Amino acid sequence: MISLEEARDRVYAGCPPAEPVEVPLADALGRVLAEPVDSPEDIPPFANSAMDGYAVHAADVAGATAEHPARLTVIGTLAAGQAPSLTVGPGEALRIMTGAPFPPGADAVAIVETTRVDGGTVEISEPAAPGAHVRPSGQDLAAGQAVFLPGTILSPGHLGVLASIGRGKVAVVPAPVVGVLSTGDELVEAGAPLQPGQIRDSNRTTLLGLLRRDGYGAVDLGIARDVEADIRERIADGVGRCDAVLTSGGVSMGDYDYIKKILDELADMAWMQVAIRPAKPFAFGRIGDTPVFGLPGNPVSSMVSYELLARPGLRRLAGHPQETAARKPVRAVAESDLGRSDGQRTTYARVIAGAGADGRIRVHSAGGQASNLLWPMALANALAVLPPGTTVAAGDEVDALLLG
Ligand code: AMP
Ligand code: MG
Repeated sequence: MISLEEARDRVYAGCPPAEPVEVPLADALGRVLAEPVDSPEDIPPFANSAMDGYAVHAADVAGATAEHPARLTVIGTLAAGQAPSLTVGPGEALRIMTGAPFPPGADAVAIVETTRVDGGTVEISEPAAPGAHVRPSGQDLAAGQAVFLPGTILSPGHLGVLASIGRGKVAVVPAPVVGVLSTGDELVEAGAPLQPGQIRDSNRTTLLGLLRRDGYGAVDLGIARDVEADIRERIADGVGRCDAVLTSGGVSMGDYDYIKKILDELADMAWMQVAIRPAKPFAFGRIGDTPVFGLPGNPVSSMVSYELLARPGLRRLAGHPQETAARKPVRAVAESDLGRSDGQRTTYARVIAGAGADGRIRVHSAGGQASNLLWPMALANALAVLPPGTTVAAGDEVDALLLG
């Protein structure tokens, strides 16, 4: 057996980041930025009003009270989107809306809540200090300022900033398109009736979903029967259309597992026994430049193998640094017994995590822990990490990987 870290290092070595491409902002969400971004201009580009009200001279309203309001002559109205054409003189006020350019002459905004209009005059009942409710140009970003560094994972907020500084396109590491192939004579399509001995293929649905959750392209390569030609054809199809291929099934010690033979023909596969439970068997190699991940067939194992091994590799392809490719554990308190790990392997127990009243993360078992029991895995939102030879009882502290 090899350690999880060793298996991951093999994966990382075979998953170098893809070449950056320019994409429209709409396609950049979740992608890793591949260029430094500077602001070409001040943001906001011009001084503007932070509130609806009146642009005034602060000196004119300095002593204003409800009993003795300042009386100013209204010289016009300025809406957001209009360019100012009037200069505000002493004793004057310009009605102004939030986001409208701040007019010359004035130095403060009296908010509308402190005003009362009377014909062509406005009464202002509170002082407004110089600069009050005025957003200066460049308040958010100055022209030439460094905004984002390469390696930034683009969130909706990042995309908004890029839009605000006039970037319609941005260079990112593209998301891999990943094919998913199930293998096994016992498998039938999800909606199909069962003949004796058959089960429905759940892994493909799960893995395609995990890929979509992670922001990757997901390509359904179907079910390969335990027949060499079928497996060969479908793998070739996947390698032709995808940046990476996930297979499930046929990597353990069973007979009729022709996927092993075919992958060995096509790729420099490493067949591994990883010191984890579930998901001990795992295979990885490359067909040409295309990484191929051989995940175990048991439904829980295939999901755990995805989370611990395939996902970190795909994140490397997508440009994430190796240090952040795999999930980092958080400290949690076990609310139920989580059992014990054998002396050789780290157990990843399926648990439900939530914040306790004290703000600490608490986990409890999601149910049965056998690798064929998919339901508890579906209910789980975290994996509790039990190092070899350890027991975790209710009340103990434990590391947990928060999923999704
Ligand atoms: P294998 O690794 O092919 O020997 O499969 C191990 C176990 O996982 C067997 O019980 C298979 O029936 C089951 N299995 C394999 N592939 C799938 C799949 N796509 N969906 C559900 N169960 C599967
Ligand atoms: Mg099989």
